[in-house]
Amino acid sequence: MNEILVIVEHDRGEAVETSYQSIGCARALLAAGVGTSVTAVLIGGEADGLVTDLGAYGVTKVVQVHHAELTDYAPEAWGEAVAELIAARAPAAVVATGTDRGNEVLAYAAAIADLAFAANVTEIKHAGDASLDLTRARWGGSLLEQSKLIASVYVLSGVAHVFSGEPSPDDVDTVAAVEVVVADLSENAARTRITDRVTLSSGITLTTAAVVVSGGRGVGSAEGFAPLVELAELLGGAVGCSRVVTNNGWRPHSDQVGQTGKRIAPELYIACGISGAIQHWVGMMASKHVLAINTDGEANMVGKAEYAVIGDLHKILPAVSAEIRKRRSA
Ligand SMILES: Cc1cc2nc3c(=O)[nH]c(=O)nc-3n(C[C@H](O)[C@H](O)[C@H](O)COP(=O)(O)OP(=O)(O)OC[C@H]3O[C@@H](n4cnc5c(N)ncnc54)[C@H](O)[C@@H]3O)c2cc1C
Repeated sequence: MNEILVIVEHDRGEAVETSYQSIGCARALLAAGVGTSVTAVLIGGEADGLVTDLGAYGVTKVVQVHHAELTDYAPEAWGEAVAELIAARAPAAVVATGTDRGNEVLAYAAAIADLAFAANVTEIKHAGDASLDLTRARWGGSLLEQSKLIASVYVLSGVAHVFSGEPSPDDVDTVAAVEVVVADLSENAARTRITDRVTLSSGITLTTAAVVVSGGRGVGSAEGFAPLVELAELLGGAVGCSRVVTNNGWRPHSDQVGQTGKRIAPELYIACGISGAIQHWVGMMASKHVLAINTDGEANMVGKAEYAVIGDLHKILPAVSAEIRKRRSA
C-alpha cells in the first residue's frame, strides 16, 4: 500500500487551525513523488466526527483508531497506536503538523517502529533514490538545516503554518472511506494522561485572534499596557508580548509570543516597542501583515514589517484608538 498516513491532530474531537496542515505537508510529499494517496488518521473515538470535514480535502481514506485508553491526549498511547499502523500498513510516509503534540506523537511512534524522524520540515524534495532532501527549521527557526532522510518509511512533521491547512482547488469533494481499527495497546501505553483541565482564557485567545496587539520593553510597565488592551478590544483582538515583558512580570507567560512562547499567525500583528529579535520573530513570522510602532526607525522589526510608524507608542496608540472611535460614531 503506497499511502501517506496523515495524523489529524485534535483535542477531544475539536480540530484547530493547524490540524489540517498535516494534509498540506502530505501534498508536498505527493508532489515530490512520494506515495500515491492520502489516508487521514483520527486517534480516539472522540475524533470520529471529523470524518465529514476530511472529504473536502481529497482524502480518500480515513482510519479511526479506537481503544479505551484513547479518550484524551496521551502521547505514548497515541505514538504506540501510530507505530501499530506503520507495522500493519507499511505506508510510504507518516506525517503530522510540527506542533508540540504532533512532534511528541511522531517521536514516540518512530522510536517504537525503529525509524528516523525528521521534525519541523519546511521543504521536501525527492532525491530520486530512497531518500528525501529536506529543509528543516532548527533553533526556533533561526537556522535552516539541509538534511537527507533515508528510511523505509518517511516519518516527518511540517512546521506549523508553512503548509496549507485549506482544501486545494484540485481536491475532489468525496466522502472518504472509513476504516475502524481497534488498537492493541500495551498495558502501560498511557503513562502520561490528562487528568484535569483549567481554563486560563476564554473567548478570543492569542492563538485564535485575527488581530494581535503586542508590546515589548518599550511599553515600560504593566500599567503601560492599558492602551494596547484598549486597541485590542476595539479591534476584537488579543494582547501579546515579548519575553522581556513576561520576565519583568508585566504580563503573564501565556501572552508571550516567540521561541519560548506561542507561535501565532494572525491577520495583523501590531508590534509596539518590540525590537524584533529572532526569538520573538519566529513566534509571529507567519502573521499575514505586520505593523511596527517603534521610536527606532532602524529596529529589526521596523525593517521587516510591512507597515511602520516611527514614534512613541504611548502617543500613537491612544491616537489610533481615538480615530477608530471617531470613525465608528460618525
Ligand atoms: C533561548 C532564548 C529564547 C527566547 N525566547 C523569546 C521568546 O519566546 N519571545 C521573545 O519575545 N523573546 C525571546 N527571547 C529574548 C529575545 O532575544 C529578546 O531579548 C526579546 O525579544 C527582546 O524584547 P523586546 O523587543 O521587548 O525588547 P528590546 O529588544 O529591548 O526592544 C525594545 C524596543 O522598544 C523600542 N521602544 C522603546 N521605547 C519605545 C516607545 N516609547 N515607543 C515605541 N518604541 C519604543 C526600542 O526602540 C526597541 O526597539 C529569547 C532569548 C533566548 C536567548
